[in-house]
This record gives sequence, structure tokens and C-alpha cells, in this order.
Amino acid sequence: MIIVKTPQELAKMRVSCRMVAEILHELSTLVVPGVTTWDLDRLAEESCLKRNAVPAFKGYGGFPCSICASPNNTVVHGFATKEPLSAGDIVSIDFGVLYDGFYGDSAVTLPVGAVDDDKKRLMDVTKASLVAGIKVVAPGVCLSDVSSAVQVVAEAAGFSVVREFVGHGIGRSLHEDPQIPNYGKAGFGPKLKAGMVLAIEPMVNAGTHHVQVLGDGWTAVTRDGRSSAHFEHSVAVTEDGAEILTRL
Ligand code: MG
Ligand code: MG
Repeated sequence: MIIVKTPQELAKMRVSCRMVAEILHELSTLVVPGVTTWDLDRLAEESCLKRNAVPAFKGYGGFPCSICASPNNTVVHGFATKEPLSAGDIVSIDFGVLYDGFYGDSAVTLPVGAVDDDKKRLMDVTKASLVAGIKVVAPGVCLSDVSSAVQVVAEAAGFSVVREFVGHGIGRSLHEDPQIPNYGKAGFGPKLKAGMVLAIEPMVNAGTHHVQVLGDGWTAVTRDGRSSAHFEHSVAVTEDGAEILTRL
């Protein structure tokens, strides 16, 4: 069942989602060659605690970190590590909080120093696919119209969308109905209604869409070893379109 939020609940979601946006912005300013995702994870957690918010991912299903840090060929759900990032890497940082009963969830992929044009284009296209998905969000629109819009942009650029992981509804739970694939034919699935909140999160691979989960049970990497990018916003369906809740 897709939960429609009341205006009061949406007001609370704006607060938790804004915290996610602020903290992700803080982290993004620190992504330079030599920084470790472990350092970013510590900062994310401290920033949360300062705001009396709870990091949403730590302990979720046993996940050990406050951020998901997924460099280069890691698609999603990477652990924070003490290995320094290098110039030319890209790294996806996925982050969520729980505050006053509601979750916010967002992700960005960032360049570490100067990166090559292929990686730059992968990040740009993945972000553009998220923007395209958000652009179709409005009451009465079919859920798969969002999925299709994301897929069209990613594949038109010669990239592939990951199938194994999907976006999701969000609210009092981190993952609510509906599941939101990043691929599919338009015109199917439930119709969106004002008050629904969707975490739309394309994961786009430079090569094959196939992924593989490592022995830690979490870290998903591309099967061909090529790069992957990931962007996510928590988005409310409004009377006439969409409101991006995790944007500053
Ligand atoms: Mg996320
Ligand atoms: Mg998510």
C-alpha cells in the first residue's frame, strides 16, 4: 500500500529531508584526493547527532556504516573504509536520517579531483536521468512513466540501468511501497497521488547492467568492473507536480 502523507506529515518530512541535503552538501565539500570514506562517515554521524537525528542506515539490516560509500565500480551499499580516495575516482555517497519519526534519503556521485570525460559523462547522464524521472512526477501519472523516463535518458547515452536495486516510497519507514525500478515500459503501475513521497534513485552503469554482491553481503559492484554512478532525491507528489525534498 502506498501511504499518502498528510500536510503535517509532509512538513516533518521536509525537515528530515533538508537535514539529509545539508549533511550531504557538507560531505561533498570534503571529497578531495586523500580523504577517506571513513572520515566522511564519522562526519555524517557527528552532523546527525548535532541535529538530534539518527543516521538511517547504520544497523539497518546489519549495515555497519552511516553512509553508503560506493567508489568507481561499486554500484551501491559500499562500506566506509580507511582507504584514501584518489584523484580520478568517482564516489557515490548515499545518506539518510530519521528525525521526528520520518526518514529522508538522498545520494550524489562526486568526482575526486579531476576525473576523465567518460566518468564525467556517466555522472552527468545519471543526474539527468534522475531529473527526467522527477520531471514526469505528478498526480495521475503512472509509476512506470517515471521508470521509463529514467531508462530512456540513461540508455540514449549508451549506458545501462541497474535492475537489482530500485527506488522506493519513504516516510515513517525508510523503504515503503512502491518499489520504483529504473527501467520499464511507460503506462503501467499505480497512479501517483498528491502526498505520496518517492525516493527515486537511478543507478547507471558505463557497461553491462549486471551487478554482483560481494562476500560481505552488501557491496554491489559492476560485473564487468566498469564505473557506476548513483543519484537520489526524496520527492513529494504535489497537486501540480513534484517537490524535491532533499534539495537545498
Ligand atoms: Mg539512499
Ligand atoms: Mg533510497
